Amino acid sequence: MADKKFEDMKKELFYKSENAGEVLEQADIDAADCFAEDYKKFLDASKTEREAVLSVVEIAKKNGYKEFDSTAEYKSGDKFFYVNRNKSVILTVMGKKSLKEGVKIAAAHIDSPRLDLKPNPLYEKDELALFKTHYYGGIKKYQWVTIPLALHGVVVKKDGTKVEVCLGEEENEPKFVITDILPHLGAEQGKRTLSEGIKGEELNILVGSRPFKDGEGSELVKFNIMKLINEKYGIVEADFLSAELEAVPAFKASDIGFDRSMIGSYGHDDRVCAYPAVMASVSVENPEYTTLTVLADKEETGSDGNTGLNSDYMENFIYKLGEQQNVQGYDILAKSECLSADVNSALDPTFSDVFEKNNCSEINKGVVITKYTGARGKAGTSDASAEYMGKIRGLLEKAGIVWQIGELGKVDAGGGGTVAKYIASLDVDVVDLGVPVLSMHAPYEVISKLDLYMAYRAFTEFFKQ
Ligand code: MN
Ligand code: MN
Repeated sequence: MADKKFEDMKKELFYKSENAGEVLEQADIDAADCFAEDYKKFLDASKTEREAVLSVVEIAKKNGYKEFDSTAEYKSGDKFFYVNRNKSVILTVMGKKSLKEGVKIAAAHIDSPRLDLKPNPLYEKDELALFKTHYYGGIKKYQWVTIPLALHGVVVKKDGTKVEVCLGEEENEPKFVITDILPHLGAEQGKRTLSEGIKGEELNILVGSRPFKDGEGSELVKFNIMKLINEKYGIVEADFLSAELEAVPAFKASDIGFDRSMIGSYGHDDRVCAYPAVMASVSVENPEYTTLTVLADKEETGSDGNTGLNSDYMENFIYKLGEQQNVQGYDILAKSECLSADVNSALDPTFSDVFEKNNCSEINKGVVITKYTGARGKAGTSDASAEYMGKIRGLLEKAGIVWQIGELGKVDAGGGGTVAKYIASLDVDVVDLGVPVLSMHAPYEVISKLDLYMAYRAFTEFFKQ
C-alpha cells in the first residue's frame, strides 16, 4: 500500500455509496429505462392487492407457470403459482437441489395505503351524497383531499355472486373527491396541528349531487345515487355490508423530471419491490435452489389477517412442498434465506433533518439494504445478522449491482416495520432489501428508475445463486 497514491488509498479504506447514474454503463441505464416502461403499466393496472394478484398471475401464465396442485409431483424447473384468497400470491420455481437444502424467498407486499369504504358508507347531507371511509394504513390525511379518486374492489351479494368495481380510471369515467375548506374560511382549521388538519371522520368522498326528479320527501340525492349504482352494478345498499371497496388516487404513473429519471405514482410501496421480484422469478431458468416470490397483503396494517404474513399461509405452503419430497417443513425453513423486499425512505433535501446522512438511503444510489427497522431501540424488528449481511453484500458486489445501506430516518425520529420479522420468526435468515421512495405513503410517491432496475438485478442474482 505504501507506493499507492493517497487518493487510491482513501478510496480503498473509506466507504462511499455510489450514484448509479455515474457508475452504470449506458447499456444498463437504457435497460433500466426500458424496464421502467413495463413497470408503469403494471402500476396502472394493479392499484389494489386483488388487481396486483391478477396482473402477476397473468405475467406468470405467460411465462409458463401453472396453478399449484398439491397432488402433483414437481421436478426441477417446474413453475407454478399459488393464490391465497385472491389477495396474495406465491410464485415458485423448483430448483435442482432438494428442498432440504432450503428455498430462496423474495417477499414483498401488494397492498398500499388507501381509503376503504365503511361497511355502510352512503349518506346524504345538505343535499349532497357522500361515502364514509376508514383509512387503511399509515397516511397523512390532509394529502388525500382535493385529488381525483377512483373506486376499486368487489361487492359480494348474499347469494354469493361477486360484482367487480373499477370506476374512475378511464379518461371519460367520473372521478370522486374529498372536499376541503377554502383558505378564506380556513382560519380555525389552520390552528389545528398538521396531523389533525383533516380528521378521519372528515375523509368523506363526494359521490353525487342531483336529486331524483320524480320522488318526494328526504334523501332524494341519496336515492338517485343508489338507483344509479343499482342500475350499473345490480346491488342494493345492504350489499355494501359485504364489500371491499377501496378509494385510490385516480392518476396514472408518469415520468418525473426533465431527465425522466424518476417515476411518480400511487402505490410504489410496495409494487416497486413486488414487480422486480416477479420479473426476476420469471427470468431465472432452472435455479439451483427452489425460489419463492411471495406477494403478501395486509402489510400496511401490520400483516395480520389470513392474507398477511403474520398468518401461516406461506409456512403451510412450504410444508406442502416438503411433503412431496418427504422433507419436513421446519427443515426447509431452517436452511432458507429471504430478501424481505420493501421500500425505505429516501433522503429528501427539503426535509433532510429527519435523516442521518451517513445511514439513510438516497435516490439513484441503488437498491437499499435495511439491516433493521423498528423504533425506540430497535423494538419490533428482525435485525439481520452480520453473517447474512456479509453474504448478501458479497452477492451484490460480485454482480456489479449498485447498492446502499439505509436506516428509516434518525434514531428516535419515528420508525416502522416490514414483514421481515414474521419471516425471521419461521427460523429463516432474512434482511430487508428494496427501493428508496420519496413521499412514501403519499397518494403520489416517487422512485428512481435506476434503483428499480437494481432491485430487479438483485432479486435475479439472489435467485440464481
Ligand atoms: Mn412497504
Ligand atoms: Mn408502507
